[in-house]
Amino acid sequence: MPELPYSFEPVPGYNAYKVTTMLRDYLELLMENPENRSTIDQILKLINDYIVQLKNLRAQNRKETILQIDQAIDHFWLRAPEENKKDIQCKSGCTACCFIDVEISRDEAKLIVDYCQENEIEIDKSYLVEQAKAGRKTFSSLSRCVFLKNNMCSIYPVRPIACRKHWVKTDPALCDFSNNVINQIGGYFDVNTEILASALLNVDETGSFEKILLSEL
Ligand code: SF4
Repeated sequence: MPELPYSFEPVPGYNAYKVTTMLRDYLELLMENPENRSTIDQILKLINDYIVQLKNLRAQNRKETILQIDQAIDHFWLRAPEENKKDIQCKSGCTACCFIDVEISRDEAKLIVDYCQENEIEIDKSYLVEQAKAGRKTFSSLSRCVFLKNNMCSIYPVRPIACRKHWVKTDPALCDFSNNVINQIGGYFDVNTEILASALLNVDETGSFEKILLSEL
């Protein structure tokens, strides 16, 4: 006789935390098999542990906390098996992903604003105001990221986590938001990165890049 379904309800704790879209999709996949229960519990515990750690770090220095998260995500990337990275299509000069909606936290915005001041990078506030009004869910002349200059990210060392963890494995032509639907893109997934990025969602206010940035200017 076939086994009854494990559960139609989310596992306990599943809804306790905000998580990134990629991690939510992964958890949903794991929940299809009861044998994955301990993995799900481990992920939820890690999110909780990171939340505690990030709260402590933020109480001391909010900017430094983001820098440490950025470093950790770069480290996760470096130590990921080559096998996982082999189909990645992203390369310098390809900027299609700089026209899509990006979410950031308030502390990330503060880090970026300070970086711009220190490096005399001008932020076009009037463009940002128009962009915030129009939104970026639909492609328009206001979809370009304010920091994309001469086909390069002008704030690369402090780019948001959303940009830092965005690696595409599908045909780069699909990244052209002016012609395609954004959810056609298949990306690289690193569970450690998504867990850490999810923890940040639970300790800091997040929102659209342009709106959060404007509130810091
Ligand atoms: S911050 Fe940099 S990487 Fe991110 S969308 Fe803007 S230009 Fe692109």
